[in-house]
This record gives sequence, C-alpha cells and structure tokens, in this order.
Amino acid sequence: MESTLTARDRVGVQDFVLLENYTSEAAFIENLRRRFGENLIYTYIGSVLVSVNPNKDLEIYSKAHMERYRGVSFYEISPHIYAVSDNTYRAMRTERRDQCILISGESGAGKTEASKKILQYYATTCPVADRMSTLRDCLLQSNPVLEAFGNAKTLHNDNSSRFGKYMDVQFDFRGAPIGGHILNYLLEKSRVVHQNHGERNFHIFYQLLEGGEQDLLSKLGLERNAQKYQYLVKGCCPRVSSINDKNDWRTVRKALTVIGFHEDEVEDLLNIIASVLHLGNTQFGEGKNGENQITTEPQLKYLSKLLGVDGAALREALTHKKITAKGEEMISPLSFEQAVAARDALAKAVYGRAFTWLVVKINQSLAFKQNNFKGSSSVIGLLDIYGFEVFQHNSFEQFCINYCNEKLQQLFIELTLKSEQEEYEAEGITWEPVKYFDNKIICDLVEEKHKGLISILDEECLRPGEPSDISFLEKLEDTLGGHAHFVTHKLANAKTRKAVSREEFKLIHYAGEVNYSVNGFLDKNKDLLYRNLKEFDMSPLCFPLFDEALVRHQVKYLGLMENLRVRRAGFAYRRHYETFLQRYKSLCPGTWPNWQGRLADGVATLVQHLGYKPEEYKLGKTKIFIRFPKTLFSTEDSLEAR
Ligand code: ADP
Ligand code: MG
Repeated sequence: MESTLTARDRVGVQDFVLLENYTSEAAFIENLRRRFGENLIYTYIGSVLVSVNPNKDLEIYSKAHMERYRGVSFYEISPHIYAVSDNTYRAMRTERRDQCILISGESGAGKTEASKKILQYYATTCPVADRMSTLRDCLLQSNPVLEAFGNAKTLHNDNSSRFGKYMDVQFDFRGAPIGGHILNYLLEKSRVVHQNHGERNFHIFYQLLEGGEQDLLSKLGLERNAQKYQYLVKGCCPRVSSINDKNDWRTVRKALTVIGFHEDEVEDLLNIIASVLHLGNTQFGEGKNGENQITTEPQLKYLSKLLGVDGAALREALTHKKITAKGEEMISPLSFEQAVAARDALAKAVYGRAFTWLVVKINQSLAFKQNNFKGSSSVIGLLDIYGFEVFQHNSFEQFCINYCNEKLQQLFIELTLKSEQEEYEAEGITWEPVKYFDNKIICDLVEEKHKGLISILDEECLRPGEPSDISFLEKLEDTLGGHAHFVTHKLANAKTRKAVSREEFKLIHYAGEVNYSVNGFLDKNKDLLYRNLKEFDMSPLCFPLFDEALVRHQVKYLGLMENLRVRRAGFAYRRHYETFLQRYKSLCPGTWPNWQGRLADGVATLVQHLGYKPEEYKLGKTKIFIRFPKTLFSTEDSLEAR
C-alpha cells in the first residue's frame, strides 16, 4: 500500500475525477505538473482527454504503441490520444452511430498535432477496403498541403494553423475508411498582406522561393530572395530555425501529386501564389497631372500574365472605382490610400479563393465513390478549433470563438450528463442528480432569434440610415439591459463601471468575464471571412518544460474545472464484474485464486476487503461503480509508470 501511495504521489492521478481535492484549481494544476514531470502528458477527466504539449519527441506514438491501445478499455491502460481514437472507433462500430472528437485549446497547445495523431492511428490500424489504399495516402497527404497554404509561423507556434478545420472520415460496415471530407473556415486572410513582428506569411510563399526550380521561378517572374517581397518582410523573419522550407517544398509538391492534382492545376495554383507576391510589390505614385497611378510596370505585366487578365483592365481596377449615382455609372479615381487598400483586398481575395479551391480539390480526392460500395457506413468527425480566448483587447474574432466554445460546453454538459444518467438507469443504480451551471442562458443571450446579440448585430448591419458600432451598442443596451450575463458602462453600477469602457460590452461567460470592444463589429460581421488574430501585447512565448501561467489560463478557459465538477457528480470508475474480478482478485484472499460464487458477490467481497465503505460504491446489474477508487487506480498508475 505504501509503495502505491508513493507512486501516486509521484505520477499523480491518471483521471482527475480521482483527485481528492477536486474543486481546487491548484490541486488540478499540481496533478498536471507531476504527471508532466514523469513525461505523462495525458490525463483524463472521465472520457475527456487533457493533454500538455511536451514540445519534444516523447516516442510514444510508434506502431507498437498503437497496437497496445487497440481494443483496450479507457481505464485499463495509461491515458493516450490513441485510447480516445480507439474508443471512438469502437463506439462507432458497436453503436453504429456517427462520432465526433473535439479538440480545443489555445494556439500552440497541440491541437493540430493531436488531429494528425488520430488520423495516423486510423490509417495504420483500420482494415483497408478494396481498392481504397490510395484513400489512406490522400488522407495523410492532405495535411502537408493544407499546412503549406493555411499555416504560418506566429509568436506562439512555428506551425500555427490559421484556419479552423472540421474533418470527416467515413468508414464502411467492416470499419475500413472509405472516404473523407474537410470543411475549412475563417482563414486568416489578413496575414497575406500583413504580419506582426516575429511572424511570417503562409509557409507556401517561402517554400516556393526556397525550393522552386530556377526555371519555375523565372516563369513566375520571381526572385529567390524572400526579402524582395513586401508581403514577406513585415514580420522581419523570413527564416525560422525549426522550419526547412526547401524540404517542405518537396513534400508539398509530392503530396499535391498523390492527392491527384494535374500539372496544369499545380501551375494555376503557383500562378496565384506568385501573383500575390507581385501585387504586394505593386506601388502607386503621382502622375503628371497629380493623379494616382501604378509606378511599377513589370509587376503589372506579370500580374496580367499570371492571372490571365487584361493589363489595362487591371490597371483601371487598381486605381479607379465604379460608383452609381442617380442611375448612372461613373468612374472615379482612387486616392493613394484607397488604391493600396484595393490592392491588399485583391491579394487577400485571390489567396482566399485559391485556398478554398485547394480544399475543394482535396475533397474530390477524398470523396467516397458510391459505385463500389455495399452496406452502411458511419463517420468520425474531427474538430480542430480555438479554445476560449481572452486578451487585453477583445473584438469580434474573440466573440465568435468564445461563443463557439460556449456552445461546445453546452453540448458537452448535455452529452455527459445524459449518457451518465442513461447508464445508471440501465444498471439500476439510483443517484441524486447534482446541480450544475447550465450555460444555456448565455447561449440564448447570444443566439436567440430577434433578441439575441447576433440577431441585433445582423439587424443593425442591414438597417438603413447610418448604423454604427456605437448605435449597435445602444441597441444591445436597450434589448439586453438587465440580463445577468450582460454588462456595459452605462448599465454597470458606480462600483463596477470602471471595469467596462464606453465602447465595450462585457459578457459573463461560463469560463469567466470578457470585455469586447464594439469597434469594427459591423464591418467584420459583413465580411464573414474576415479574421485578424492580432497578438495583443504578447511578448514571444517560449515553452519551458511546464509553463504554469499558461496552463492555469487554459485550465480556466477550457472550463476544465467545470467539466470535472460535472464528472464528479457521478461514479468515476465502472467495470464489468468479470473484468474487475479477473484483474484484482489477487488483492484479496477471499477471491484468490478463483471466485466460485456469483460474480457480484465476489466483487463485493473484494471491494470490502479493500476497505471501501458501502456509500463509496454501488453494484449495478452487470457492473461495479466506484465513486472514488483510490487504491485501484494507484496500482494502475504505478504499473504504467514503471
Ligand atoms: P495548435 O494546433 O494547437 O496551435 P500544434 O498542434 O500546431 O498546435 O502544435 C504546436 C507545436 O507543438 C508542434 O509544431 C509541435 O512542435 C509541438 N507539439 C504539439 N503536440 C506535440 C506532441 N504530442 N508531442 C511533441 N510535440 C508536440
Ligand atoms: Mg493548429
């Protein structure tokens, strides 16, 4: 017993529901820290997997590791992303129901790596359907391509995804992958024309310049030197030590071929990439008559060639605008600033379309072809989204992200509580439902028809007259004033007023309070794709083996303590009688070497011998439920730690 306690002290508990002091955030973080110290980066909260990014290769993702997790129950073996992958897969097969894995966390937390690990697990361990081996390659090869065009170096992550991704993998009745689909959203297009200090543009630009053959670059009118391109110099860091653009270029070129891009399609794609760079170098200046004109003719020539458009029309489009007045169409010149804005808008739009087209092509290659299919199929979805975000300055982007997390939290609570309740019922266990905070009230505040925040925003965008961010704020005050989760400067009392400025509203989310500045809300809402994730006042973060402030922030804003509370409301541990007896019978003389009587009686003998009081466990129809199984889990942990 003493030695198991020591092991438990050293490695912590592998499921937070076993944490004695489960309401304490400090105890929660201490448990993460202990495990992290032992290279145990994964910990459960019931069926939720919490992962701490090790930022180094832990060698826990080999084929042998995958094999260890195949067909094994969650609690039998130490927590792992493969356990989640395998359990999801088995649930899909046995329940014949679609499943979804949600991955959430701050930038750099390891979400995209986790989604890749899950895909690799399925690609390696699942059976292969007839003539479907190419699908596996396409699934795996879609990643380097999407990352080249959708990822960039930021202050937080050298390979940060700048778009959200939902990916479906479709399986046939034998559990073999037969198709896939990717849904991308909110590509950070603003990065094409501007990068903050210490950040880069999307990888593909640097890959092309570093790795592209000389002939190709000449055809595209490009020089190898990234410093020559205005859109690539804003962040002052063309090279990153952890990135090899030349090698990555080769990987991406190969991947494009595997996915099924024809040579002329690759050419089209690269023409667009090159034209974005030429747009960035397109300059404006004063002409003879004081008019604003393009001063860089070579760029214009390349642009019209690469984009396949008429040079004169392009020149006109970049320096003039069409307006309709009294039913007549008129052309008016753009000022210098307007022309620069038009140029940047074109670059963003062109890149955004290329990205969308890329995803369409990838989806064509992953698409399931009906003609050779017999029987039913199910789907596992993978959602890679941003976790709750709170900066010093929060705007429309944070509002969207946080609303999305609020919805996920609601889904999570509904699903966990519902499935828990169903299991207790099926096993004939009576239990007292425990009160928890239902965040539906906040979801309603945001999404309710006509009186929710989003409806009010949409209405204000469409209203004739002169709607503004401030008139939107006033509408909010009129409609939502008095709501317990909504505060503005005007609505706050004298004591709390200082905490909200005049251009802000505060939402009291399940994970904490956030002030949102209304500046830009109307414009950003009109362009649904607009996304500009600035790194507000954040100095570059390096990752020491365990960054407590970062971890605490994540624990809070991912709602992990809330999740834990909900989980603790029930029984943390459950196991079929037979499995339980088989595994632990040696711990009790009465059940060793074999129990002859009824299974439930054997289990009761065993847990009583281990010192559990009657209120600490329940015997169901086929399973034992233990509220807080200290001893047993310590044993498992110490086994795992060795
Ligand atoms: P996110 O998608 O959450 O922004 P990533 O998945 O891109 O973060 O991870 C950021 C970086 O952290 C990766 O490029 C990798 O270097 C490292 N990393 C993430 N997960 C792991 C892991 N399980 N093991 C080792 N390193 C990891
Ligand atoms: Mg990512």
